[in-house]
Amino acid sequence: EKIIDLIIIGGGPIGLACGIAAKNAGLSYLIIEKGCLTNSLYNYPQGMTFFSTAERLEIGNLPFVSINPKPKRAEALEYYRKVSLSYDLNIRLFEPVKNVLKKDNTFTVETSKSNYETRNIIVATGFYDIPMLMDIPGEDLPKVFHYYQEPHYFSHQNVVVVGASNSSVDAALETFRKGANVTLVARGSGIGERVKYWVKPDIENRIAAGEIKAYFSSNLVEIRETEVDIETPDGKITIPNDFVLALTGYQPNFQFLENIGIELDQENMRMPRYNEVTMETNVENIYLAGVVCGGLNTHSWFIENSRIHADQIIEAIKQKGNIAKI
Ligand code: FAD
Repeated sequence: EKIIDLIIIGGGPIGLACGIAAKNAGLSYLIIEKGCLTNSLYNYPQGMTFFSTAERLEIGNLPFVSINPKPKRAEALEYYRKVSLSYDLNIRLFEPVKNVLKKDNTFTVETSKSNYETRNIIVATGFYDIPMLMDIPGEDLPKVFHYYQEPHYFSHQNVVVVGASNSSVDAALETFRKGANVTLVARGSGIGERVKYWVKPDIENRIAAGEIKAYFSSNLVEIRETEVDIETPDGKITIPNDFVLALTGYQPNFQFLENIGIELDQENMRMPRYNEVTMETNVENIYLAGVVCGGLNTHSWFIENSRIHADQIIEAIKQKGNIAKI
C-alpha cells in the first residue's frame, strides 16, 4: 500500500500539531516542509518575544517550560524541536511542495524532490513567506529589507522603519538601542493597538523624547540610494537614509492555494473557503489548518486558537473513513 492517508503541507507549529493528531489516530501521514523545522519561527527576529504565554503555544500535550511567562524565539525553537523528536514525527524538510494534482480519489503531491500519493491533504502553510509590498520606486534596492533579524548591522546608520505594529516597533527600539538613527513612518495615526502592552509605552516614550523620530498618517513614497521621500500631513519631506526596514506585514501564498483549487472569498479578505467544523475546503479531502485560514486578515488566527484545527480535521477524516482500512 503506497498511498499515504494524509500529507500535511507545512512544518510550522500547526502542521506539527496535525502530525501528532494523525499519529495518535493511527493514520499514515507525512509532513512536508519547504525550509527547516518551524521555518517561520526560525526566520523571526532573533531576539523576538512571543505575545503568547508558553502554555498557549503548547501542542501534543507536552509542557512548554519557559523561565519567563512569554517565551522568546530561541525557546520556541527548542520546544517545537523537542516535540517533533519526542513524537518521532514523520517529516521531510527543505522540500517545497510545488503542486497538487487530483485524480479520482487520490492526490499526487509534487515536491522539489519527489512525488507522493495521498488520500487527504492538510494545507498548513501559514502567511510568513510573502511580504506585503509598498509598491514604490526603490523598493527593490538591496538596502530595503522586508524581514528583520537583528540590530547590530544598523549601528551608526540612518534607518527608516515602515509600519507601527509589533514587528516595526520591535525593530525600531532594537536598532535605536544599538546606535541607529531611527525614523518611523506609519500610515496610521499612532502606534498600533495590537502592539505588546509592555512594549507600547517604551516606543511612545522614545518618540515623545525625540529619540526616535516618527511620522504618522504618512507614507514612504520613494527610496533612493542615500535618501528617501516621505509624504507627511505637512507635505513631502526628504531625509538622508542608509537602510529601510519595510515591516508592513505578510500574506498567505494565494497563488498556491488557487493552483490547488481552493476558492478565495474576494469580497472578504481573500479568505479561503472551508467548513468551520471539519476545516475541509471546497476541494474534497483537502483541509486547511493554522494561520493560513485568515486570508489577508493575518491577525485572526494564531497558535493558541488554531492548534485545535488538528483535532477537528483528524476527527473529520476518521468520520469520513477515507483512509486505509487496517
Ligand atoms: P507557520 O508557522 O507559518 O508554518 C507554515 C509553514 O509552512 C512554514 O514553516 C513554511 O515554510 C511552510 N510552507 C509554506 N509553503 C510551503 C510549501 N509550498 N511547501 C512546503 N512547506 C511550505 N502567534 C502566536 O500564537 N503567538 C505569538 O506570540 C506570535 N508572534 C508572532 C510574531 C511574528 C513576528 C510573526 C510573523 C507571527 C507571530 N505569530 C504569533 C503568528 C505565528 O506566525 C503563527 O501563530 C504560527 O507561526 C502559526 O503556525 P502555522 O503552523 O499556522 O504557520
